[in-house]
Amino acid sequence: MHHFTPCLLWLTFGIFVASSNTTTSTCDDLSSALSDDVRFPESDLYNASISSYPFLQLQLHPTCITQPRTPQEVSTAINVLRESGCTKFAVRGGGHNANVGFNNIDDGVTIDMHLMSAVEVNKDVVRVGAGAIWQKVYDEVEKYNVSVLGGRIGVVGVAGFVTGGGISFFGPERGWACDAVVNFQVVLANGDIVDANATSRPDLFAALKGGQSNFGIVTRFDLKAFPQGPIWGGRIAFAPEADTALISAYTEFKTSKYDPYAAGWVTLRYNGTSKQTTPVSVLWYTKPEQKPGALKKITEDIGPKVFNGMQTAMPSEFARNASVVVKTSKSRTIWATTTFHISPTIMSRIHRLWKALVPKICETYAHANPTSELTFQSLAPPPRNGSHPNVMGFAENATPEKDLVFLQIIFYFGDASATEGLNNALKDFIKMFDDIAEEEGVKNKYVYLNFAAWFQEPLQGYGNESLRTLKRVARKYDPKGLFQKQLAGGFKLF
Ligand SMILES: Cc1cc2nc3c(=O)[nH]c(=O)nc-3n(C[C@H](O)[C@H](O)[C@H](O)COP(=O)(O)OP(=O)(O)OC[C@H]3O[C@@H](n4cnc5c(N)ncnc54)[C@H](O)[C@@H]3O)c2cc1C
Repeated sequence: MHHFTPCLLWLTFGIFVASSNTTTSTCDDLSSALSDDVRFPESDLYNASISSYPFLQLQLHPTCITQPRTPQEVSTAINVLRESGCTKFAVRGGGHNANVGFNNIDDGVTIDMHLMSAVEVNKDVVRVGAGAIWQKVYDEVEKYNVSVLGGRIGVVGVAGFVTGGGISFFGPERGWACDAVVNFQVVLANGDIVDANATSRPDLFAALKGGQSNFGIVTRFDLKAFPQGPIWGGRIAFAPEADTALISAYTEFKTSKYDPYAAGWVTLRYNGTSKQTTPVSVLWYTKPEQKPGALKKITEDIGPKVFNGMQTAMPSEFARNASVVVKTSKSRTIWATTTFHISPTIMSRIHRLWKALVPKICETYAHANPTSELTFQSLAPPPRNGSHPNVMGFAENATPEKDLVFLQIIFYFGDASATEGLNNALKDFIKMFDDIAEEEGVKNKYVYLNFAAWFQEPLQGYGNESLRTLKRVARKYDPKGLFQKQLAGGFKLF
């Protein structure tokens, strides 16, 4: 059905050039194979897909967008793309990875999964289409008085979140979201639709728990569900002068006895326009009858507070409330992350450095109205007691959830001309934070993939053994390297 479209044309004057109409003919092939589900520029559905990306820098313009409705249609799209021999493509789950080119592409094909977002609850397993967002999942599962390990902000997609690890409300108590997957349904590079679980393709099963887009396109996630009622938590905004106390309180929280029901993060937010700093905590206690547990150090012992939104509510409500800010403030957003062992001084040294430098950086790019955030949070425990492994490189007896803290540094801004300078600022910050951690002897090589910048190497951070495993699995399931070469974005193995 599909005609072969060469990627290179041999011109009479003796050089190869990329054929300008290659992608166009691939889109025509997609259109004849999947007529109802391919969108071209200027159509309403094309424009709606582009404008639904949450960050402005992600609104690239593919030659066409395919919006499959079934695993068979994903398989057809993969077959057409593979047979084109070279058309570059991108895969979009919820579209919330901030790195340009990871979930959309200029002049290629974007596979936008959002029509595959069915959520089906079947006793203790929830089947979720790979285009779903967490809000839909929570809203559905709570009808059955159960929950799953999902994102804490409802607009975030299931697919990128789970395949990159996934830190949920219940992370400290129940581990990574990817470890609660009982089965991935995947379309492989040869178009086969397969299951990956503990007994069928266990190597692919493990690789998809942290290896993201290197092996195939996940079309359905089967997630373990557990009985769950309301939890306690929310956002507290402190007065600017509470910044140091907040960092000390979080350090104390991390160095005291581990509390498996205490989850969330602390953030310092500097608004470059108002020149105001807002220290914020966003925390949950998942055993509400014993609240605030170890969170007391942050939620009660420090102040002054300017807003206290702690309440008892269902995860769906927290996820919905948190989405409002993301949905209403469209900006450019860039981020990077790094990880260190907690020490009595590391967080306050990092905070002091950021506080000293960030006003000047915001001043330099004042025309772009930048805001910066510095966030600290915990990792989740690795799978234990013989549970099936993931590929993030933590041994069963390691305790990253207690010992490690990861930070995320973000810039939000308006004007695209500030992108390069602020990306350089991110790189410099990560280098300086890592230098402080090295100096204290507390640096850790782990880089959380879901918050890693395009210039970082999270797969390498899993360690050599995991990296070897991931490469072996990629060669086995994608021997010609479709997902290494033609899939344009994402963190690659080769
Ligand atoms: C507002 C906000 C809140 C967040 N909150 C959390 C949080 O609470 N906990 C946490 O751990 N992380 C959180 N994150 C980070 C989040 O996990 C990542 O941004 C993640 O990539 C989002 O998944 P997505 O499906 O929306 O991403 P997308 O950008 O659509 O995809 C991310 C990557 O996954 C690949 N991919 C997408 N779909 C598939 C598929 N079906 N098969 C194979 N590969 C695929 C894409 O090609 C891309 O490279 C948050 C991010 C934001 C912006």
